[in-house]
Amino acid sequence: MEKERILELRKLIDRYNYEYHVLDKPTIPDAEYDALFDELLKLEEKHPEMDDPASPTKHVGYEVQSVFNKVRHDRPLLSLGDVFSYDELRAWAQKITDVYPEVEFIVEYKIDGLAMCLVYEDGLLRLAATRGDGTVGEDVTANVKTIHSIPLHIPVSGRYDIRGEVYMPKKSFEKLNAERLANGEEEFANPRNAAAGSIRQLDSKIAASRGLNAFWYHIPDDEEATHYDSLMKAKSYGFRVNDTLKKCSSIEEVIEHIEATAAIRHDLPYEIDGMVIKVNSYAQQRELGFTSRIPRWAIAYKFPAEEARTVVEDIFITVGRTGKCTPNARFKPVKLAGTTVGFATLHNEDFIHDKDIRIGDTVFVRKAGDIIPEVIRSVKEERGENTVPYIFPSVCPVCGSHISRYEGEAAHYCVNSDCPAKVVASIAHFASRNAMDIDGLGEKKVESFYNNGLLKCVEDIYDLKDKKDEILSIEKFGLKSFNNLVAAIENSKTNSLERLINGLGIRQVGEKAAKVLAEHFLDMDSLSAAGEEELSSIRDIGAVTAQTIREFFEDDNNKRMIESLKEHGLNMEYRNTRTAAETPFSQKRVVLTGSLQSYTRQEATALLEDLGAIVSSSVSGNTDFVIYGADPGSKYNKARDLGVTCLSEDEFRDMLK
Ligand code: NAD
Repeated sequence: MEKERILELRKLIDRYNYEYHVLDKPTIPDAEYDALFDELLKLEEKHPEMDDPASPTKHVGYEVQSVFNKVRHDRPLLSLGDVFSYDELRAWAQKITDVYPEVEFIVEYKIDGLAMCLVYEDGLLRLAATRGDGTVGEDVTANVKTIHSIPLHIPVSGRYDIRGEVYMPKKSFEKLNAERLANGEEEFANPRNAAAGSIRQLDSKIAASRGLNAFWYHIPDDEEATHYDSLMKAKSYGFRVNDTLKKCSSIEEVIEHIEATAAIRHDLPYEIDGMVIKVNSYAQQRELGFTSRIPRWAIAYKFPAEEARTVVEDIFITVGRTGKCTPNARFKPVKLAGTTVGFATLHNEDFIHDKDIRIGDTVFVRKAGDIIPEVIRSVKEERGENTVPYIFPSVCPVCGSHISRYEGEAAHYCVNSDCPAKVVASIAHFASRNAMDIDGLGEKKVESFYNNGLLKCVEDIYDLKDKKDEILSIEKFGLKSFNNLVAAIENSKTNSLERLINGLGIRQVGEKAAKVLAEHFLDMDSLSAAGEEELSSIRDIGAVTAQTIREFFEDDNNKRMIESLKEHGLNMEYRNTRTAAETPFSQKRVVLTGSLQSYTRQEATALLEDLGAIVSSSVSGNTDFVIYGADPGSKYNKARDLGVTCLSEDEFRDMLK
């Protein structure tokens, strides 16, 4: 049985290697490939009698099959052993520290591109070759020369070899795939495959247009004593060496660095699929040596897989609070970035059609960091005969009303303002953490209250306290939960204005704009009375947003809602939440005018805000203090007329004491 499996795995892995390394078109995700490879390695270890030099575990990459000239490498270009957990990494390091207790490691990003070697003769770039099967690669010099960051001349006589990774930055990859989609061409599966495909273009102009770049990380022959020193020397010659590399004297330090990198990797402009840990000393590297496929002095730690393959079981539409109808795929659950995922967004109708994603299709799904999982492509080669293109519905799946797509927008919207999905989502948004932050009133709870007739609009939240018996009759709702919910609701009444503005769900006004509006207007009445001109003059508020805000406050239903919330006792004013300490300026409205001697306007504003003040730009009857410097203007006169307390800069400083 196991022997048959070995043969089967070799065949399968050969096929996947061909698809990946020659066609640049993988049909299974890397994690699945890695699992098969690992299975084969373990079985071969168990059955030494099955040894075969042709097994993929003894080779690197795939035999070159392109039309480029073949190049025999002087020294083989190897792959790397890999580990997927810190325990495996510790075990690898242990074997090394057993021999070299004082070992120093260099930790580098594992750039997700394709390996490249460069050969310089008397300072001139003579050859750039791919890895191929490790022994024979392809001469791609003309294309590699189009990468601007690669030096064509270096100040070295004789021969100089350097190895590294050619990659496609994320931005170039997105642009390329968007162009391919628009031209009806198949997209590249990932930046690595796109980089490999681009470097193998027969026309160098095409390769040049692909925005490729490179990092250099290995100098096979160098008189320096360490890998680090070699890299620094290469850097001084003009090679792009990744500055993020780090020297570590223990494996725990290595792991700390990996953790820190994992947290920021999605912000990098290029893909990394792991970290490479290398022994720094060349003498130790030489003693540790190589297997036929990998060096023993280096290892790759691979990040948890963010891509997986699965089968779409259904496509369904969800309706958001604006009525936006978003298609989603339900698929066989898979592990992605460390969590099990069974749903992913399909964005909109165009996305489904452009990628031709169908129910029953085998698809690649991706979840990167905190980003919502998405279906990235379907594997057309494995499509069953009975699948049909997905037809986007013409009515709302929740209320049955017509759904329409506005000109210039990719999304469809349900037109019914009373659509239950919209109402439930709006109430849940109002109660959500970034808005009114009512703990215990999530979407599921809102839906249940809505279906039980307890919650039909946002204002009803504040009457829930009077519906104890009805709420307690709902399944799984105990007295303790009820009391906690009522406390959270009552507590929300004191929230500062920006939370309420965000909770109203005005189109285009999210958390950030809500804060800007609250800081500017300080209370709901001033905001609701503001004209479009004033609104659009505020930093971060554009003309379109200004218009939607105006429309929102002109709507009779919204006016009624705000009045009702006021009657329920909700705070309608901006509160400085920066400090809890009591100061003479806590929650006081302060206006600055004239030029101050000891502070810039910004410094004075920051200081006052730290003291709990609300700094405003205009004087009104609600202003508590005007602080004036030299040559105060009309604000000072207005404050005097209104009887507002005016403080000179010295008086202000005295109050600070
Ligand atoms: P690898 O990608 O796991 O690691 C070795 C390579 O890492 C090196 O050859 C080098 O090109 C690169 N690298 C990046 N940064 C580096 C650095 N700082 N220092 C040293 N090397 C660095 O191994 P591989 O042999 O290139 O490819 C095998 C991998 O490719 C598999 O583990 C799998 O993930 C993927 N693959 C996938 C399929 C598929 O069908 N999905 C098929 C074949 C291979």
